[in-house]
Amino acid sequence: MFQNYSFTVKDRFIRYAEIDTQSDPQSKTIPSTEKQKNLGILLVSELSAMGITDAHLDPYGYVYATIPSNTNKSVPVICFCAHMDTSPDCSGKNVRPVIHPNYQGNEIVLPEDESQVLTPTEHPYLKEKIGEDIITASGTTLLGADDKAGIAIIMDMVHYLVNHPDLLHGNLKILFTPDEEIGRGVDKLDMDKLGADFGYTLDAGELGTFEDETFSADSVTIHFYGVSSHPGYAKDKMINAIKVASHFIDSLPKDELSPESTDGRYGFVHPVRIEGLAEKITVEWIIRDFLTTKLAAYENYLRDKLEATLKKFPGAKADFQVREQYRNMKEVLDQYPQITAHAKEAIESSGIVFKKSSARGGTDGSRLSFMGLPCPNIFTGEMAFHGKHEYVSVQDMQKAVETIVRLSNIWEEKS
Ligand SMILES: [Zn+2]
Repeated sequence: MFQNYSFTVKDRFIRYAEIDTQSDPQSKTIPSTEKQKNLGILLVSELSAMGITDAHLDPYGYVYATIPSNTNKSVPVICFCAHMDTSPDCSGKNVRPVIHPNYQGNEIVLPEDESQVLTPTEHPYLKEKIGEDIITASGTTLLGADDKAGIAIIMDMVHYLVNHPDLLHGNLKILFTPDEEIGRGVDKLDMDKLGADFGYTLDAGELGTFEDETFSADSVTIHFYGVSSHPGYAKDKMINAIKVASHFIDSLPKDELSPESTDGRYGFVHPVRIEGLAEKITVEWIIRDFLTTKLAAYENYLRDKLEATLKKFPGAKADFQVREQYRNMKEVLDQYPQITAHAKEAIESSGIVFKKSSARGGTDGSRLSFMGLPCPNIFTGEMAFHGKHEYVSVQDMQKAVETIVRLSNIWEEKS
């Protein structure tokens, strides 16, 4: 199927990576940064040039497009989705992708900052990539393979399908979202316009990886209220909220229940922001676990600790607010086993070992799954994301293109 196909994914990836699409959590606009639309405009023009007549960018920065069905069968509408923005954690300006052809297992020194070195010890997956073509950033920025690898893979799938009209598939929807990295990737998504039954995000890492599970997530905000007073005359009057909050945070265990002390299936409570004065301190938390029921248990644990703290500071007050963020997509996906079964078949028929895994985080898919679009996550090859050491293998991206082309066809075959 692919012996004579000239993949376009590498050139596309480089073209997309060079466009600055960093999102901004402090921004109130939608999309959070207008520059994300620059990539959206390019993608629409490339889709239109390939003959996709309905491709468009909406005012919120979403790209929608349809590859029309070429079969008489009634096939579920499948959406392929990737995000256009890059992480606010690392500069995305003047990204200059560097290709390291036929990689030989050596350390990779990034040319624009030679103190930035990718070593196979730090990045053991590199040892599996010998003989492949590795793309890195140049040393001063991230690469943006998260998630421009996913975008380039989907675009190459479109290219393949429009050039192989004999390969049967149902209606396929293409969706590129802004602001995934700041948790707003589906805020303005028009589900009716999208009109898809099931989806796949292209935003996972190693070759063959398939994520059908994410964390469930809440946020907690705790306000601590003290009593302020002139410090020279504060005896028996002042209650310093800074000290109350500090005591509370310090009362939490050091060797469990935190991101720095857990991995695998373990969840955590994690303070992410603290702000205020002696009179009032606000501490924001994120609460994470694969089991949604455990979130309430963690929250009750925090409430108990908070109560114990307040007992030590008579007169101090606090309030405790919980907000739902997203839920483990597996709760939805388990109801539609064919989504995983077809992906497994597509990955294996591409000659790849199927590796089911869980994301210790959320994806657009975790929210989409609960909005009515069950949506697991497929590998792209993107690695070490959100930093200057980010890299991606060209061959991994090509295998992902092959996988989703086959997947489109499998949905038609099984219908
Ligand atoms: Zn991503």
